Amino acid sequence: MTRRLLRAVFVLLWMPALAAAQAPVTYRLSFPEAEHRWMQVQVRFDELPPGPLELRMSRASPGRYAVHDFAKNVYDVQIAGTGGAPLTVIRATPHEWTVIGHSGRVEVSYRIFGDRIDGTYLAIDSTHAHINMPAALMWARGLEDRPAIVQLESPRGASWRVATQLLPGADALTYAAPNFSYLMDSPTEFSAFSLRTFTVGDAPGAPVFRLAVHHTGTDSELDGFAADVEKIVREARHVFGEYPAFEGNAYTFIADYLPWAAGDGMEHRNSTILTSGSSIRSNRLGLLDTVSHEFFHTWNVERIRPRALEPFDFNEANVSGELWLGEGFTSYYGPLVLLRAGVIQLSDFVSEIEGLINDVRLSPGRLVRSAEGMSRMAPLADGAGYVDRTNFAVTYLSYYTWGAAIGLGLDLTLRDRSNGRVTLDDYMRALWQRHGKPGGTRPGYVDTPYTMADLVAALAAVSGDAAFASDFFARYIQGSAVVDYERLLPRAGFVVRPAAPGQGWIGELRLQDAQGGARVTAAVPFGSPAYAAGLERDDVIVAIGGRDVSSAADMTRAVRERKPGDTVSVTFDRRGQRITGTARLATDPRVEISPVEQTGREPAADERRFRNGWLSSAARNAF
Ligand SMILES: [Zn+2]
Repeated sequence: MTRRLLRAVFVLLWMPALAAAQAPVTYRLSFPEAEHRWMQVQVRFDELPPGPLELRMSRASPGRYAVHDFAKNVYDVQIAGTGGAPLTVIRATPHEWTVIGHSGRVEVSYRIFGDRIDGTYLAIDSTHAHINMPAALMWARGLEDRPAIVQLESPRGASWRVATQLLPGADALTYAAPNFSYLMDSPTEFSAFSLRTFTVGDAPGAPVFRLAVHHTGTDSELDGFAADVEKIVREARHVFGEYPAFEGNAYTFIADYLPWAAGDGMEHRNSTILTSGSSIRSNRLGLLDTVSHEFFHTWNVERIRPRALEPFDFNEANVSGELWLGEGFTSYYGPLVLLRAGVIQLSDFVSEIEGLINDVRLSPGRLVRSAEGMSRMAPLADGAGYVDRTNFAVTYLSYYTWGAAIGLGLDLTLRDRSNGRVTLDDYMRALWQRHGKPGGTRPGYVDTPYTMADLVAALAAVSGDAAFASDFFARYIQGSAVVDYERLLPRAGFVVRPAAPGQGWIGELRLQDAQGGARVTAAVPFGSPAYAAGLERDDVIVAIGGRDVSSAADMTRAVRERKPGDTVSVTFDRRGQRITGTARLATDPRVEISPVEQTGREPAADERRFRNGWLSSAARNAF
């Protein structure tokens, strides 16, 4: 589709919304001293209703669940009324500027500093402006339905271009958002990035996929990477049967692969931010894993959306008990789509699921909170930095990890009980039909977000068994049980074995070499032999079973040389005291997973059929 045609579609789609709305909020973004890492922002609010204008900086950013004080980087704030008239401004909280006595127009200008390249913050330097809107733009309460215009101005001497899901405006540096929510969801890269575009199929109206990459690599590296991104985009569609109706009919991957970037991936409705300190050359598969995860989000989370996140609250943390599905199932499908698309090998996928299963089996956090409870921890655990210590290492299990393991478990369970006829893809497609595809009456919003009860109902419908559905949720989502992978994986021709049979195990300790022994550097998992022996973080283990311990490796070796069931003394130094406890060694709960063909037997026909149905490409129709 040509650019002119796209513009026509845009006008047709958005005219009703724009025509009915009040005066747009206009943002002008310029970079007079980009090298000093600040952006000049000028905002104009027009046709304001009488009464105070409540200006705010956000405290939350969609997809990042902890609260942030984005106001901290704002300075040199100037607020004026019609004709530059001075106005009274009240600062009730650090995040608010309440403007009194205006006569319908308020103009605000401020500087904002930003120096972190990721999916949450703002980064300005002489090579780009990498803008996450909630971290950068001041907005006004009560004007959420107004459209916004964003005008960008290149620094002197530079000719930067724009990569964004914002909709094209009057010229190449002017963009539009139909409302506040869409504006905030539209991160923007303004730089001399490299661009690759493709479409999938040649049906009229097929969406355009854009890959905008700001990096230090070569064009040919980017060409190869773009070909892999296209494979992912083609394969992911088959899970849901179709692409969403992208606003503007385009989806934009915005990547900053720069040695000084932080590693991150952040989903948005029609775009994603991908950042990494590594490069296409050094970390191609790692970067593609994030591409796969974030692209899956365009269905799962962006459109199949929990009610708890809709509409998103920019002032407070958003709490959802469903992130084991929103993030976890997305984490399960990330590598699965890569495998189906032929981007990774079977062995890569197997080590991925082995890691998931072991992390879940090892975590005592499961006994503290369910997968639903872990999801609700997101505002406290996701990107939150603390001065004081936490014991999250033992009380928290990431909803990414646990949710991905549940996704794997549900997929295998559905396939097992239906002999491969019903799969997790069917479940995702049902959620898409019920909650994602219906869309929203206002662009950027979701009219039929789901609740936990909706998820149970959809599983009942897909499996044809309401009792199974409610039992699955009770055990694995609201309970802390672990799916029986040892029974299910062999159906696909995989062997599941204990990872360290016959060796002693004292619990999952993080150890570091220390003067005269091995220092414990993280909270000790309760329920483990080490916990029962009284060991805790900061203790330095000096002897085990009466034998001196000289290093972390020495400690690990000394435990493994003994047998499960052995009782040993553990001597350690703690804050000036020498203490001796007793540990009864157990068996390492980790498992090892391998395809049967690696154990000297070919998969049986039904195992091969099960495996192909699960792991082979729907896009290529061959495994
Ligand atoms: Zn995610």
